[in-house]
Amino acid sequence: MRLRHIPGAEEQIAESSYVIQNPQENKGRWAQVFGNANPVVIEVGMGKGKFLMELAASNPDINYVGIEMYSSVLLKAIQKRKGMDLPNLWFLRIDARALADVFAPGEVSTIYLNFSDPWPKDRHAKRRLTSPEFMAVYDKILKAQGTVEFKTDNRGLFDYSLESVPKAGWTIKLQTFDLHHSPYAEGNVMTEYETKFSAEGKPICKLIAQRTA
Ligand code: SAM
Repeated sequence: MRLRHIPGAEEQIAESSYVIQNPQENKGRWAQVFGNANPVVIEVGMGKGKFLMELAASNPDINYVGIEMYSSVLLKAIQKRKGMDLPNLWFLRIDARALADVFAPGEVSTIYLNFSDPWPKDRHAKRRLTSPEFMAVYDKILKAQGTVEFKTDNRGLFDYSLESVPKAGWTIKLQTFDLHHSPYAEGNVMTEYETKFSAEGKPICKLIAQRTA
């Protein structure tokens, strides 16, 4: 998702009490930031943040961090969150390439990638969030048994990921080409894109990966 630039977005983000402004300063200290040692779960490319807001409201004993690199998109999440009492959710405006500057080794329990941009051209493959380059970043911050959970409607990106993720040294623990009609549908929390694409009748693919032991 890339919205047209919204004048004043950066200023509103800088003033927002939902956004951590210098997240690099919290590397290795997220338990202090949240005030507890609960697991830290992140969504990379959270868009307008519906998924994480729902998870944070239903799971007060889990800490959530939403990562979004575009100010105009993050601003939508900030606006949507207004009035919600969610002490277990922070937003960061960073590129996921910098995640290891923000989280220490083993500091993150789960990484969600939801409806990531497909980047269909071969020359843009490194930008895909399931590329070996990004899997190497996740490897630096995930705890030993931590998982990467990826959902998409894009069959090309999913097929690519089924190859790229094992090549990067990860085991695919679960995979489905039609999440909503699979045994894994129960408890599934829909993202904004998921709601839109499934209403159009598109099947949703999902995989869960863990580092190969
Ligand atoms: N996860 C949401 C959903 O499922 O409704 C939004 C999906 S949207 C297609 C993908 C989002 O990922 C966009 O908002 C985009 O700005 C963000 N994104 C893409 N690459 C990113 C990166 N390297 N770091 C942080 N955010 C990224």
